[in-house]
Amino acid sequence: MKFKENCIFCKIANKRIPAEIIEETEDFVVIKDINPIAPIHLLIISKSHYDSVLDVECKDGADKSGITADNGDMEGRFGRELFGILTSLAKKFNVEDKGFRTVINTKEDGGQTVNHLHVHFLAGRGFGWPPG
Ligand code: AMP
Ligand code: ZN
Repeated sequence: MKFKENCIFCKIANKRIPAEIIEETEDFVVIKDINPIAPIHLLIISKSHYDSVLDVECKDGADKSGITADNGDMEGRFGRELFGILTSLAKKFNVEDKGFRTVINTKEDGGQTVNHLHVHFLAGRGFGWPPG
């Protein structure tokens, strides 16, 4: 587990500052976005700090943070939990029929503003394609 000082999402995910936790797993917390752009706008935030999705190495052995050194199943669990959360949120917010949008903004062109891995879960209205 990697904790970065002065990272707002590290603090939220590790409960150094209070937030309403919608759902929690070993590797993630889910909170409401502070500036929602849809009726349902949640953030799935990793507890471990990654600057972006590019820092998560999905292969056997340690990721860049060395997190697998004491947890050999981290990689498998990470993906399982993330996909599991999507289904769980869809059920919890009753959007299984209508659907939802997931977004991982990455770096400059992706429009990432908080440099800690997070997945947007957007629902409650229709979304256009392609995105702006
Ligand atoms: P991104 O632009 O993809 O990096 O997304 C960052 C998101 O985090 C934005 O939608 C912000 O509204 C949201 N955000 C920033 N700070 C907080 C916070 N303290 N609590 C909840 N959401 C936040
Ligand atoms: Zn962080």
